Amino acid sequence: METRIQKIDPENFNDEELKTACEILKSNGLVAFPTETVYGLGGDALHPEASSKIYAAKGRPSDNPLIVHIADKESIYEIADEVSEKAEKLADAFWPGPMTMIFKKKEIVPYSTTGGLDTVAVRMPSHPIAMELIRQSGVYIAAPSANTSGRPSPTKAEHVIEDLNGKIDMIIDGGAVGIGLESTIVDVSGDIPVILRPGYITAAMLEEVVGEVKIDPAIVGKVMQKNIIAKAPGMKYRHYAPKGNMAIVEGDTDNVIRKINELVCAHKEKGQRVAVIATEETKDRYECDIVRSIGSRKCEGSIAAGLYDILREMDHLEAEYIYAESFENDKLGSAIMNRMIKAAAYNFIQA
Ligand code: AMP
Ligand code: MG
Repeated sequence: METRIQKIDPENFNDEELKTACEILKSNGLVAFPTETVYGLGGDALHPEASSKIYAAKGRPSDNPLIVHIADKESIYEIADEVSEKAEKLADAFWPGPMTMIFKKKEIVPYSTTGGLDTVAVRMPSHPIAMELIRQSGVYIAAPSANTSGRPSPTKAEHVIEDLNGKIDMIIDGGAVGIGLESTIVDVSGDIPVILRPGYITAAMLEEVVGEVKIDPAIVGKVMQKNIIAKAPGMKYRHYAPKGNMAIVEGDTDNVIRKINELVCAHKEKGQRVAVIATEETKDRYECDIVRSIGSRKCEGSIAAGLYDILREMDHLEAEYIYAESFENDKLGSAIMNRMIKAAAYNFIQA
């Protein structure tokens, strides 16, 4: 299949530019498009033909449900059952934006979209292209991240092209995304909201709006929780992972740098290709041929935005061993560490 690639300026575009993409969506084709979190691979959420194409293009296990994207709040009542007062409050506070809510599903949502579950994940994105695409096509768009299953999520059109060129109808290139990590997922189908995946919207931000919020035990901690099954099916799969063997090194900054330099030296002696994921503050202190700065510790947002690009670059550089610094496990840091821990397959080294 030939994939059409269309550049659109998110700050300045018109209906005409989205026409082809809308036609594709209306006829059960697939369009990758930018959102404020990561690029999504979109298809009609209410048509099993479109969702089965999404699973096939990504190589995604069919029990891993898709998020349904809407462009106005009223749409929730068409696809979700029992929208609680807390859910309403969260929608008012954080939509459009990087928060997904899980509701009991209505019958019109096919099981192929929800991975066989009786619940449905819904989000209203704030990215102008995503918004307009949903509005203009009139389609509720099922859109998981537009990457090959298991690889880091795409934060630029180039990443989507790398994974999906030739497998989908169209890729809209709207430049680099703003946030760079997937949405926060909150299950609002019970009395107390439960975070199933950490993201840009933190537990504290949610609590300010609805009071107590729980966190799914499967996503807490640095050790793989063997006996707890993650409530968001996607969280149980190996994810975001570069091809090389990645480890996160923890401790005081000076100790971390010393430890990583020792490890690098040992790999070099064996002729192995090794890379370091550092920060603006530390990047000049490593004695390694490949050092990449993920962003500045003074700005967690820059680290979130840079993470997946760096993980993909590690593959391009053919790094066999990758050592990364660790980050604070609060606020946005908990979302960053959640992704890094999975990328490193729970591999920690204490410095
Ligand atoms: P992605 O869009 O690639 O970020 O993947 C969507 C994420 O949402 C995956 O981790 C899914 O497991 C999760 N998800 C989607 N629908 C549901 C649902 N009904 N219940 C729990 N998690 C869900
Ligand atoms: Mg994904």
